[in-house]
Amino acid sequence: MNRTANRVIIDDTTLRDGEQSAGVSFTLEEKLAIAANLDAIGVPELEIGIPAMGDEERDSMRAVVALGLKASLIAWCRMTEREIRLSADLGVDLLELSIPVSDQQIERKLDRDRRFVLDTIARHVRLAGDLGLRVSVGCEDASRADKEFLYQVAEQVQASGAERIRFADTVGIMEPFGVLEVIGDLRAMVDIHIEMHAHDDLGLATANTLAAIRAGATHVNTTVNGLGERAGNAPLEEVAMGMQKLYGLDSGIDLTRIGPVSQLVEQASGRPVGWQKSIVGEGVFTHEAGIHVDGLLKDPANYQALDPREVGRELRIVLGKHSGRKAVVQAYGNLGIQLDALEAELLLGQLRRLCERTKRSPTPGELSRLYLMLEQSGRTGYGQRRDA
Ligand SMILES: [Zn+2]
Repeated sequence: MNRTANRVIIDDTTLRDGEQSAGVSFTLEEKLAIAANLDAIGVPELEIGIPAMGDEERDSMRAVVALGLKASLIAWCRMTEREIRLSADLGVDLLELSIPVSDQQIERKLDRDRRFVLDTIARHVRLAGDLGLRVSVGCEDASRADKEFLYQVAEQVQASGAERIRFADTVGIMEPFGVLEVIGDLRAMVDIHIEMHAHDDLGLATANTLAAIRAGATHVNTTVNGLGERAGNAPLEEVAMGMQKLYGLDSGIDLTRIGPVSQLVEQASGRPVGWQKSIVGEGVFTHEAGIHVDGLLKDPANYQALDPREVGRELRIVLGKHSGRKAVVQAYGNLGIQLDALEAELLLGQLRRLCERTKRSPTPGELSRLYLMLEQSGRTGYGQRRDA
């Protein structure tokens, strides 16, 4: 199935690289739910596992295949005859055959040389083809490879009959300008699909993925919430939104439904999403009532480039250290308590101390308690509680 004619394809690897995150392990039910949910919101490709891990992993991959999803499904293998044969009857659409291309890994992991890598690619891509399998060649540690050798590898990948080459920034040490150059070179050199696989060790995975798209990559790897080894992979939600907002590219993904998928992966992985995590973090559409909120209420575009409704969220305004008296009166008004000016002033001082102590916004219960304490301290009598 070739969907790449006019579109950049997101190949989400939450179920493979995401699960490789230290300590993360999905049950079969979780794996099926994640696959089905990603498919339902329109993710066009899913990398669903590593056949060499054993019978259980292969059975779980067969179960994903049996869901009959619209998405293309990919198995990740090291480039060996054994792993290709283990994958032959899984029913996946494509094999990702991975081989190191940096001297660092060729010499110090494989204990081999560059010639071995070129020969291995030629032999195994042909073997997979003979078995009727479509192949992408994953260039592991491509970002640390000698460029001339990487280009030789790319030519070999194309000549051997693979349909795609994956450029893996395995250790996450690239920056967008370098990506633009190397992916641009590859684009000029081969006619096959090019996929970017970015890691976030320097916080640049999304930037590098977008740079690869600009340079001509046809496919990009992501994971939900950026789950993945070490600092993780390029987050699905950021890449899809970046494609849309910055390049006007439709990823085909319905981002208004990303929230529940993010929460599903958060739960299944046991890796909490940060409060400030772009797009899916709890706090990214929350504003503290204060100087900015006045402008925000006049027109949300004054302080928000992203409409929360685009990702199925809502704007939230909370009280905090930077809030003024007006906001305090409004917040208490919402609780059915009318404050006068003196009460608002006194409560504002209390609220600021509370926020300093708790490092968060006050809850409605805390607001009510502060008001009761004020009443009991006898400094009031002016405030009228509206009958609820
Ligand atoms: Zn990776």
